[in-house]
Amino acid sequence: MWRSAAKYLLNNRIYRNGMQKLLTGQNALCYPLQEVPFQGCRQHTPAALKINMLISAVQQVEAFDKQRCITVHWEDGSHSLYPYVWLRDNCQCPQCFLPSAKARKLPIKDLDVNISAEKVILTDSKISVIWPDQHISEFDPNWLKTRCFAQSTREQKQKDLFLTDRQNWGSELQIPSASFEEVLNNDEVAYQWLCALRKIGFVRLKHAPTEKGQVAKLGKRIGYLRLTFYGLTWQVEDKIDANNVAYTSGDLSLHTDYPALHHPPGVQFLHCMKQAEVGGESEMVDGFHVANLLRQLNPEAFRILTSVLVDFTDTGVDYCNFSLQSKHRIIDLDHNGRVVQINFNNATRDSVFDMPVEQVHPYLSALKDFVDLMYKPENMVTFKMEAGDILTFDNWRILHGRRSYSSTNGYTRHLEGAYANWDETMSRLRCLEQALYGNK
Ligand SMILES: [Zn+2]
Repeated sequence: MWRSAAKYLLNNRIYRNGMQKLLTGQNALCYPLQEVPFQGCRQHTPAALKINMLISAVQQVEAFDKQRCITVHWEDGSHSLYPYVWLRDNCQCPQCFLPSAKARKLPIKDLDVNISAEKVILTDSKISVIWPDQHISEFDPNWLKTRCFAQSTREQKQKDLFLTDRQNWGSELQIPSASFEEVLNNDEVAYQWLCALRKIGFVRLKHAPTEKGQVAKLGKRIGYLRLTFYGLTWQVEDKIDANNVAYTSGDLSLHTDYPALHHPPGVQFLHCMKQAEVGGESEMVDGFHVANLLRQLNPEAFRILTSVLVDFTDTGVDYCNFSLQSKHRIIDLDHNGRVVQINFNNATRDSVFDMPVEQVHPYLSALKDFVDLMYKPENMVTFKMEAGDILTFDNWRILHGRRSYSSTNGYTRHLEGAYANWDETMSRLRCLEQALYGNK
């Protein structure tokens, strides 16, 4: 009985916000709310403030008890649906939410998933929901609008959060570059560096001091480096009894680093302190671009590389002794079928091959087609690092290689490398964006 009465009330209550006229510029006066369930008119605030506050101005709010949701009609003609249970789950009051931690306090065990709203009240600055137990949840329209469940809003929000827009490239790429010192000392340059690192996948920093410790400074700029079995930073040079093929003077074929880890490092830094006089050129390939080419040119190879798990292994002693085993698809897709990660290092691809024998040949053929595409001149950028260069690149996307070089006595090619995670790198990018430009 109570529920049907409440339903009647809610379904027939449409809350209008008279402020719309102020925004359309027809009238500079503030209009009182045309219909206010209770509370009456608020004190007027300056028009400039109002306009600022009403970026996402609400025209009206409808409550649908049967569907257990509210519909917010915006001034721009669009509308958004918000389930009651989501509104209750995301109550921003101090009892349900800890502002100092920006974190939810309300536990799921206390959430009534079938909750109904008793009253919904629209004022010019907020939407309030009164629940059956008289708990009140208040929502800022702008806050609600950015959390609209419409597909386009969700897609835009995800793009903003994760910067998923990538710029594919081949040999035509003009390598983005920035001053190492400016990246360390200028927030705007650091922000641009990280945006390009995300979008293009590859930035060359110039004029770093030619001594060890510079990649550690980049780690500090972001937050911290990623420790692995090769240490916090590692030295790439021709070593006797090398524990990694990178630590030789031979050709190093295109690869991503560390697929022997189930969560390979997302970002890599390579600082050139000494370059070989002969050889040692760097090769870089946009793995997302080449994977998408493979999808068009050889769909069966693409299907195999995006579905079959391959074993990787890395065993040895460095930071301490280690014996890693992992399984990866060479090309990882997200739930939308977008290429999101390449895991390929031929040196650490295990001879243990966990597949039916008849699939071995098709598998290796598919892999070879993928690698052949990488090596096509139009897909590769080749250049020689200079002492003082630091290559910073997306290790989930870019395949990198090195041509062989000759070591001459007393003059050895020497690079220092380090890893960071994408989580920490994106965190720094968002913090810089917030500090420089505020909330978007
Ligand atoms: Zn609350």
